[in-house]
Parts: sequence; C-alpha cells; structure tokens
Amino acid sequence: MTRPLPIVCESPRRFPRQRAGGMRRVASLGATLVVALNVVACHAPSGAPPTAAPSELVDSERRVDHLARELQARGSNEPVTLAAIGRSVHGKPLLLHEFPGAGPHVVLLATIHGDEFAGTPLLERLVAELRAHRELARGRRVSVLPVVNPDGLQARRRENARGVDLNRNFPSRNAQESVGGTPLSEPESRALHGWLLTSRADLVISIHQPVAVVDWDGPADEIARIMSEASGLPAQRIGSRPGSLGSFLGVDNGVPVITLELPGGAQRLSPDVLWERYGATLLRAIESAESQRSSFS
Ligand SMILES: [Zn+2]
Repeated sequence: MTRPLPIVCESPRRFPRQRAGGMRRVASLGATLVVALNVVACHAPSGAPPTAAPSELVDSERRVDHLARELQARGSNEPVTLAAIGRSVHGKPLLLHEFPGAGPHVVLLATIHGDEFAGTPLLERLVAELRAHRELARGRRVSVLPVVNPDGLQARRRENARGVDLNRNFPSRNAQESVGGTPLSEPESRALHGWLLTSRADLVISIHQPVAVVDWDGPADEIARIMSEASGLPAQRIGSRPGSLGSFLGVDNGVPVITLELPGGAQRLSPDVLWERYGATLLRAIESAESQRSSFS
C-alpha cells in the first residue's frame, strides 16, 4: 500500500550524543513510522487559504489524509509528498510536507508547544506558496512539519497529552529529568528525533511564541541576523533550555537551529497577515541556508 520515501534511504548522520542502540531505533522508525502515511500531496487547491483555528486544522488534516490516500490509489506521482513521521499519544499523525531538492536541507517546524500555534498557519501558508511557486525553494530541500504537538494544539496547552513538555524531552547534555521527563519518553519527540537523525538537516527553524525575537543555537548567528532583518524581530539569544531541540541539535551537535519566537498576539493574526509579516523571513532563511554536511558526515 505504501512506498518508502527517498528520505529514509539516506545514511544517518552520526550524532555524538546518540545513545547506545539509537541507530537500531532509527532503523525501526524508518521502517514503521516514516512510511506510515507515505502518500502524494497536492491535496489543496493552489492558493486555498490555510486554516487558522486549531479545530479547523484538525478537520483539515482529516481531509488531507483522505484525499492523499485517494491520490495515492490513483498512482499519482507528484514530487511534493505528504507523510507522517510518527503519531502523537492520541494517534494523530505528525504530518511532513516534503519539497525535494539536491541542495541544503531546511527543516521548518511549528507548534511543539501546543499553545503557541501561530507558526502552524504560517507554515501551512509556506507550503501553499512553495507548491504554487516551486522556484522559491529552487536548489533546496525543504521539509515542513506544521504541527509537532497535535494533541497539545487541540487542547491548546503547552505539553503533550501526557503532560510532558516536548521541547524539554530531547537527549541533550543539559537535559533534566525533573523538567522534561526521561529523554525521548514521548512518541512525538521520539518521532522527531528519529526523523532528524536520518534527514541530515542543514538548518532547523522551530517556531514558538511569545518572546518576539530570533533566537538561535549552534552556528546560526548569520542566519539569525538575516531573519532579524527580514522580520524586524531582534536577533537575541535567550539561552539553551534543558532538553530542548536547540540544546540537542544546535549546542551538542552543531546543527544551526533557529528558534523563531513570534509575538504573543500572533495567533490572532490571519494567515494572510502572518505571511505578510513573516513569510519573507522564512524564504530568506531557506535561500540563505548552506550545506553543513562536510562538517558532520
Ligand atoms: Zn515555546
């Protein structure tokens, strides 16, 4: 029923902090999770307005899932794919929109904190724009995960359904079990961690609220400056939190990680206004990403 995505064929990057048995876990994830919804996208008419409210997003996911399966059954072979890298505690798919390309790989994700969901309609709009104007990401591979914490989004709360802060649940050197539970105890963080290990990201942009700054971990100061100029938000380090994605990928493993902190009121903005204010900064980051592979292969 499903075909493997090209992305699972890449050799996993070696992460120094990867714990014993991690690669076996990744191989297992590759086999069981990444292909879970390996289907063809082009699910929404070009230019269709992205959804904004969480309840609408969940409904939209159901429609997308249904239509995508239909397209797959017809044997469509569009280059833009929609897959799930895993599932939440309540079984919701963690959707991935994939724009293939040979150049640097940019990963954009949103709503790892369920009550900071302005990044979701912004990234859905990015997906629509890239689908309509493929030249915007020419020479780049772009992966978009609009909702990393779908259960938290539905409940409008920061943590996942088991009450764990997913952005404190990564196996970084500074992880504290008292803050984020046992590292990788949650299906959402395990799925993202496993997918990141196989996907060889050259730049990761994670969208949060409400600090209104461009924060970074790892060698991302130049990208942070570029994004600051494009967005009007100051480039400012706010510190690497224990067990965060930025601590694990950026500080421990040297992958450039941007934490784009939108203002607190951003979730009241329409997708059009969000795109008007912050679309350019995402496109500038995609355009400016550079391959990091020589340092980490
Ligand atoms: Zn946050």
